[in-house]
Amino acid sequence: MSIGIMIILKILLAAGFIALGVIFFCVFFDQAILTRRGTIYRVQTNAKKIVLTFDDGPSPQWTPLILDELKKANIKATFFMIGHHVKKYPHLAKRVAEEGHTIGNHGYAHSVILYYTSAEIEEEIKYTEYVIHQITGQTTQYYRPPKAWMSKGIKKKIKSMGYQVILWSLNSKDWVTFNHQYMVNHILSRVKSGDILLFHDSGSVLTTEGGDRLQTVAAIPLLAQGLRMRGFEFVSIEELLSEKNKNNSVFTKTY
Ligand SMILES: [Zn+2]
Repeated sequence: MSIGIMIILKILLAAGFIALGVIFFCVFFDQAILTRRGTIYRVQTNAKKIVLTFDDGPSPQWTPLILDELKKANIKATFFMIGHHVKKYPHLAKRVAEEGHTIGNHGYAHSVILYYTSAEIEEEIKYTEYVIHQITGQTTQYYRPPKAWMSKGIKKKIKSMGYQVILWSLNSKDWVTFNHQYMVNHILSRVKSGDILLFHDSGSVLTTEGGDRLQTVAAIPLLAQGLRMRGFEFVSIEELLSEKNKNNSVFTKTY
């Protein structure tokens, strides 16, 4: 075997290991755990209240189906939208707002902001806010960074702009789950009072558009029933955050 072929085989093998590593990381680990400090990812409360959040939309394929299920189950959720998608699908962003859900800011182009300058962060977030406000009339107070990657300085910058950084405490892993019953069982066995749950209404492992959210759509009625049977109430992010003020309790600090 020539040296050239050997090198190509070694590169392919290394690429394979890296791909497996990425898949393993995505399925079994939640990177948001690393960046939780100084953010809101759960509210310490005895009230059995939880919030459903949906990221990366709106999507013409999935957002309408998810909105239909939420309406049937009488659940108000929070949608962390990508500014570019809001501009592309304004009627869907409007529908989310008209049906009483909260809209949060997920940046304009779903760029990881870890190495952004202060001015770039300001532009990314403020322009997304402008687009969301122009189209839906809602002013967003909540920001969720793509992939949850943030430094301490970035968190400080975002807070100085008047935003609350909202992450999550329970990850549905819906972009790598191919069985909605598995997703439902995963959530039902782990959910706690004050949890913020992460779902997606758009995208796949590699893209923020399209993907297959059928499992997410199918999970909503089962979660609505299963969680209510366990005494949980679905509330808006605003209501969950007011629990914190009401009880004068603190956010969970350790993890
Ligand atoms: Zn995202």
